[in-house]
Amino acid sequence: NDLVKHYPVGRTLSGRPKSVVHAVDGLSFHVDRGETLSLVGESGCGKSTVGRAILRLVDITMGQIVLDGRRIDDISQASLHPVRRRIQVVFQDPFSSLNPRMRVRDILAEPIRNFRLATGQDLERRLGELMDMVQLPRDSLGRLPHEFSGGQRQRIGIARALAAKPDLIICDEAVSALDVSVKAQVVNLLQDLQRDLGLALLFISHDLAIVEHMTQRIAVMYLGKIVEIGERRQIFGDPRHPYTVALMSALPTPDPETRRRRVTLVGDVPSPIDPPPGCRFHGRCPLAGETCRRIEPDLRQIAPGHWAACHLDDISAMTRDATV
Ligand code: SF4
Ligand code: MG
Repeated sequence: NDLVKHYPVGRTLSGRPKSVVHAVDGLSFHVDRGETLSLVGESGCGKSTVGRAILRLVDITMGQIVLDGRRIDDISQASLHPVRRRIQVVFQDPFSSLNPRMRVRDILAEPIRNFRLATGQDLERRLGELMDMVQLPRDSLGRLPHEFSGGQRQRIGIARALAAKPDLIICDEAVSALDVSVKAQVVNLLQDLQRDLGLALLFISHDLAIVEHMTQRIAVMYLGKIVEIGERRQIFGDPRHPYTVALMSALPTPDPETRRRRVTLVGDVPSPIDPPPGCRFHGRCPLAGETCRRIEPDLRQIAPGHWAACHLDDISAMTRDATV
C-alpha cells in the first residue's frame, strides 16, 4: 500500500543527500491466493525493487506491506523468520543463484531444515516429491548445478522456492535468461504449479510476450509508478495508457490483419533521480499536452478492476496514425 522506496545518492558538505533516487514512488496493488499478477516495465522502472521490498531485502521509505492482513514491513528480524518461509523468490540467473559447490539434495534440504518442515525419512520423501514437481529425475539429487542445463537449473531454483511451502512466490525475470523453447516449458511449469498448489505468483518481467501467456492481471510500471493495472484481457484488449500501447505494439501478432501498429518510443526511461514534473511519461508520450507537463495524473478507474493514470479519456490517436 502506497509503497515508496527512495535512495539517497551523494552527500553535500552539510551531510544531506545530493539527490534522491525515486525507485518506487507510491504504488499499491494486491495479489490474491491462486493468482498471478505480472509487474511489467522497462529495466530501471523499479519493478525489482518492489520485489525486493516485499521480500524484505530492502527497507521501504514509506507505505505498508501486508501479508494476510498483517503488516510485515515493520516487524523485527526475529518475527520475520516465519514470514520468510511464506514468501519465496526465483531469481533471473539460475547460474549464479545456485551454490556451485552444493549438491541439489543439499540445495533443496536447506530451506526444509531451516524452516523445520521435515527430517529423516520425511525429508527424503519431500526431496523426491520436489524433484517430481519440477519434472527432474530423482536420481539427479546427488549432482552439482553445473551438471544441469540452464532450464534444469531454473527448475532447481523453483524446487528450492517450493521446498519452503510458500504462499507467495516472486519470480524476478525468472525465465528471461533462458532460450525461447526452454522459456515456454518453464513458464508452463510455473503455471501448473501455481494452479495445483494454489500459490500466489508475482511475476516480474520486461517481456510482455511471456506475460500474455501466464497472467490473470497485469500492472504496468513506469518510473517507479503503476501507470495501468487490470485483467489481462483489459490490458491487452483495451489498453488505456499510451505507455502500455507502446509496449504492446512491439509484440508480434500471428494475424497480419490485426497487426498492432508499431509505436516507436523516442528516448530512454528518464533517470529516477528527480523524475520529471507532471506525468512522468510526458517526455516520451506522443499525445502529451500542456496539462501533462504540469499535473501528475492519478490512477482512474476505467472499468471494474481496470485503472489507468492518463489525463486523456481517448488515446485512440496512438494507434490510428501510421507512425506516431
Ligand atoms: Fe501521455 Fe499526458 Fe497521458 Fe501522460 S497524461 S500518458 S503525457 S497523454
Ligand atoms: Mg530488474
